[in-house]
Amino acid sequence: MRQRRPFKVEKKKSDTRSVTDIVKELKQGGPLSGDYRKQSLKIHGLICAKCGREFDLSNQHLLTVHHKDGNRGNNPPDGSNWENLCVYCHDDEHSRGLLGDYFSSGKRK
Ligand SMILES: [Zn+2]
Ligand SMILES: [Zn+2]
Repeated sequence: MRQRRPFKVEKKKSDTRSVTDIVKELKQGGPLSGDYRKQSLKIHGLICAKCGREFDLSNQHLLTVHHKDGNRGNNPPDGSNWENLCVYCHDDEHSRGLLGDYFSSGKRK
């Protein structure tokens, strides 16, 4: 049977990062972008905060980090602005008309 893959989470930070971004992050003292995901998974565990689905090393790429305040530059080291959401819940979260930080590129049908 055919598997439907509604969307693929892929971050292309390396291309889009500018020096200004890096400086901003350094000033905030937070981890460099890309690192917060690792941190968040470490703090909150490999589990979706919304549907409770658990993940392991083989499928943890389906677990993404949502920024509660919608600001991806806000990465407090204690993880208070992060929520681990599976790609489905994450998409759902953003489809409520809040913000389109991850899925703003017209992937929805
Ligand atoms: Zn979920
Ligand atoms: Zn999000």
